Amino acid sequence: MLRTNDRLWLRLLALLPVLLVTAACSANPATGEQSFTGFMSPERELQVGAEEHPKMLKQFGGQFDDRAWSEYVREIGLELAGYSELPDLPWTFTVLDDTQVNAFALPGGYIYITRGLLALASNEAEMAGVLSHEIGHVTARHTAQRYSSTVAANIGLQVLGVLSDAAGLPGAQNIAGVAAELALKSYSREQELEADMLGVRYMTRAGYDPDAMTSFFVKLRAHDRLKGLIQGDPNAAEEHNIMATHPRTADRIEQAIKLAKANGATGQRHETARYLKMVNGMVFGDDVGQGLVRGTSFVHPELRFRFDVPEGFTIRNRPTMVLATDENNNSIKFAHATTQDVRDAGGMERYLTQKWSGNTSLQDVEWLEINGMKAVTGAASVWTGQRNVDVRRIVIEQDKDHYWRFQFVTGTDDSERLNEALRRTTYSFRALSAAEAKRIQPWRIRVVTVRPGATFAAMVADMALDEYKAEWFEALNAIGPDDPLIPGARVKVVK
Ligand SMILES: [Zn+2]
Repeated sequence: MLRTNDRLWLRLLALLPVLLVTAACSANPATGEQSFTGFMSPERELQVGAEEHPKMLKQFGGQFDDRAWSEYVREIGLELAGYSELPDLPWTFTVLDDTQVNAFALPGGYIYITRGLLALASNEAEMAGVLSHEIGHVTARHTAQRYSSTVAANIGLQVLGVLSDAAGLPGAQNIAGVAAELALKSYSREQELEADMLGVRYMTRAGYDPDAMTSFFVKLRAHDRLKGLIQGDPNAAEEHNIMATHPRTADRIEQAIKLAKANGATGQRHETARYLKMVNGMVFGDDVGQGLVRGTSFVHPELRFRFDVPEGFTIRNRPTMVLATDENNNSIKFAHATTQDVRDAGGMERYLTQKWSGNTSLQDVEWLEINGMKAVTGAASVWTGQRNVDVRRIVIEQDKDHYWRFQFVTGTDDSERLNEALRRTTYSFRALSAAEAKRIQPWRIRVVTVRPGATFAAMVADMALDEYKAEWFEALNAIGPDDPLIPGARVKVVK
């Protein structure tokens, strides 16, 4: 595998005037320009990609467990890469089981696309545009440049970390996070334009319509506005998003397409029917293994439990916890407690009062029985630095291998009012039977045909989502409330 690339590399080097070849500069195979890649050889790029690949999978939800999608993305990805300047690189295309909308590239030809992004595309050409753009980041060696600078920065921080440790300060920086850091780092505008130009080059060589890059960008922008709305909500999790990692503008993309067309690039390939057939039925949002938010309930069919939060609370499913808050910033946090931690603490009560609560002295510690499960709880009044709050903590033993933690935090003024509702939340926690768990299904994308007389409002109202239905419809279809709905057109909804 290394050999072909190696030869290409030697060939490229041989073409360069000797004086230009310095230790830190190397030629860019796609653009022919010199670039700083911090001593990184193509072999090293491959090695880095192979080392970081498992970490990327771990960080971004793992590989999407759908063979048809994996094969489809790989097929199209390899075809496009075959039209690049590095056709012999051992390209690897991975669909991530991640609900966020993003695409990444690592050195060595590792390309990632999230299932969240695939849901937004409406034809193969739109997906091809994203894959080509990522391939462009690899062939133009942007990924290698970023890797070099990220590692350089991390090495600096590690040295700092050692020094600050010696001084008794908290240590800094873990090099294991390089892959994620690299993936979430923003490209420069120049690199984006270059990746778009190369992307248009590869997709048109494969016969795809380059305008699909623009049509997909319209959806990305609609999705970005939706993210803005969700982020404005204090419950929102930290999110990653293609618009942050790939800072593009419509103008720049148009510019790249225009340039390509002026050079004779063209294509009419869309493969809409094939793509819609693939996307129809695809999981949308959280899957059963991640737990699902349904209105004021949180259900976890795989770990077999559920609970409800009071009316007025909005639930967000974050990677490490479930968080629900109301408009007064009263909060419910729900998280796992590892069996090891409970055991190490010497049981549930000690876990609650010592391991978890530490310096906060819990009052009225008592044992409860919640739907046949053992639980222990305690409360405290705390000054947060901003306000007085009442805190209640509960540890529940679902079984000997599964312990859960609730934490309720209410402003002192709201505590009495919410007392009964939060008690109901506590006692709503229960195990699901196998039959109940089986009935709980994730949301899915459905491709439907617009009927004569259909209205935007009616189609949107029919979607299964709890919130932001209109915004999602617009992001999925690039059809907003003021756009015409054409009878016979096929659109994506969530069911
Ligand atoms: Zn980009």
